[in-house]
Amino acid sequence: MAIKEKLVDLKVSADEDDDSHFSLTDQTPIRDGAFDISDEKKMAVIEKHFAAIMETLGLDLKDDSLCDTPSRVAKMFVKEIFSGLDPNNKPQVKLFKNKYKYDEMLIEKNIHVASTCEHHFLPITGIAAVAYIPNGYVVGLSKLNRIVNYYAKRPQVQERLTRQIGQELIKALGTEDVAVFVNASHQCVSSRGINDKNSLTITSFYSGKFKDSKLKKEFLLSVQQ
Ligand SMILES: [Zn+2]
Repeated sequence: MAIKEKLVDLKVSADEDDDSHFSLTDQTPIRDGAFDISDEKKMAVIEKHFAAIMETLGLDLKDDSLCDTPSRVAKMFVKEIFSGLDPNNKPQVKLFKNKYKYDEMLIEKNIHVASTCEHHFLPITGIAAVAYIPNGYVVGLSKLNRIVNYYAKRPQVQERLTRQIGQELIKALGTEDVAVFVNASHQCVSSRGINDKNSLTITSFYSGKFKDSKLKKEFLLSVQQ
């Protein structure tokens, strides 16, 4: 028992970005010391290794169309598509007093999701919808999009992405009454392997009042219209 608790403590302290709401499986596996080196150093290392991958594939890096690709990819990884690994890039969420006394669900839908499958490093593209019922406070709408975006900008699996968004909304909005819906296409399914162009993956997260089937139904009806 004591050992198990100790392991849990260690795992939790390794991810700067979590809190007690997270179960272990919700966390992105981030190694110790992940943020000890600067973005510049990371980009230099990735550039070198990506050049080696291209060379190994047989490409001539002296070609003027290819020569800048390693640095371009390194910058894109660190500053764009995997920028959500760095807790410093987490959006700051400011809440406002709910002066309008709005107490129904608020849905933000058709949020563009551009993420990356952590198993193949290929795009996951789709839409998300998030909802919450204000508990004394409301949030600026674009912050909801930013939270989705932050967790999408990591190597991901869709199940974890959905839960991370849900857990963060609970924490940031100060309410348990939260729902998340993600509908996405995985390029690793559409363009290789099974090569299924049409299949979509749907995941969801319900907490608090959204566990009630009536509210869940109302949310899904709005989301799928
Ligand atoms: Zn994949």
